[in-house]
Amino acid sequence: MIERLEGDPVTGVRRATVAGVDAEGRPTGRRRAFDVDAVCLGYGFLPSNDLARSLGCAHDFDAALGSLVTRTDATGRTSIPTVWSIGDSAGVRGAKFAQAQGALAAAAVASELLERHVLPDAAARRAARRNLAFQRGVQGMFAAPVLTDQLAEPETVVCRCESVTHAEVSEAMSDRTSSPGSVKRITRAGMGKCQGRYCGPVLTAMQERRTGSPIGERSGFAPQAPVKPVPSSMSPPRRRTPRSASGRACRATAADGPARAPCVVPARAHATMPTRAAVQKRSGANGRRSTPGSSSCASRRAPGPSAGRR
Ligand SMILES: Cc1cc2nc3c(=O)[nH]c(=O)nc-3n(C[C@H](O)[C@H](O)[C@H](O)COP(=O)(O)OP(=O)(O)OC[C@H]3O[C@@H](n4cnc5c(N)ncnc54)[C@H](O)[C@@H]3O)c2cc1C
Repeated sequence: MIERLEGDPVTGVRRATVAGVDAEGRPTGRRRAFDVDAVCLGYGFLPSNDLARSLGCAHDFDAALGSLVTRTDATGRTSIPTVWSIGDSAGVRGAKFAQAQGALAAAAVASELLERHVLPDAAARRAARRNLAFQRGVQGMFAAPVLTDQLAEPETVVCRCESVTHAEVSEAMSDRTSSPGSVKRITRAGMGKCQGRYCGPVLTAMQERRTGSPIGERSGFAPQAPVKPVPSSMSPPRRRTPRSASGRACRATAADGPARAPCVVPARAHATMPTRAAVQKRSGANGRRSTPGSSSCASRRAPGPSAGRR
């Protein structure tokens, strides 16, 4: 860890002193000082699994990562049988493993859709095995204690986006009934651009220490849209009612072009869109496909993790 930085707020950093850390994150062992002109900090890897969480897929807490990971089988199939999750979402295991897992998942999805066993590419299976073993070795070599707020002072900024300090979070958490969700509403921690990516694990760890309950699917901030902040320029253009010279609203015509024409579903789409009754007839009375082993997300969806925790 970086134990000490020397420099000037205007001209920048000049010297950094680094030290090892013990299991509690306290600096230990020999210190080494370096002359530097920049300092980059690594906060570890955090899986981005908000979409899988929003769908209600089961997740487990990975203590080594300090984060939830999506629970999957070897092909990437989640606890919802029609949802697959591959790559970092189900645990950070590197680019090559993610790529190989994509091929395994593709074969599993094809087997499901074609209702016959599609064998995954043998090279992909070998690559998945080899790269998983490699990643486990690498992660073992570089294993480090997961640091959240062990070294924080009251004025340490916990939420960088909204400049919320450790003291402010602690105060908001002092209420017996508080949760990371309520702390978010009181302090704005987690409401900024990164949407709690960095402060979320800190609040969850603080909550775990305070309550003594182990971290699980319902401990932290609930996933909610938009999963990633999007610029407002991406929202659909606002439709204005055109006005005549006299100032009265007039009806849009096809000649007004798509931006001003009323938003209607084309007649052909109406004709091809199945009605609810038609879907139920095709799927059986319960609205599910009759093929064994397949279901829609909605029909098997567990109660979402966001219930009551926004
Ligand atoms: C700094 C750094 C260094 C790394 N170094 C290595 C290394 O040396 N070797 C190694 O093996 N691995 C390395 N990794 C890890 C590796 O990058 C990941 O394990 C790998 O990329 C995981 O693949 P993925 O498909 O899960 O995710 P990604 O490669 O991140 O792909 C996810 C894609 O989904 C897109 N996306 C996200 N959200 C949405 C959304 N809502 N809608 C549409 N698209 C969306 C993203 O834009 C992205 O293109 C490194 C990672 C980092 C951050």
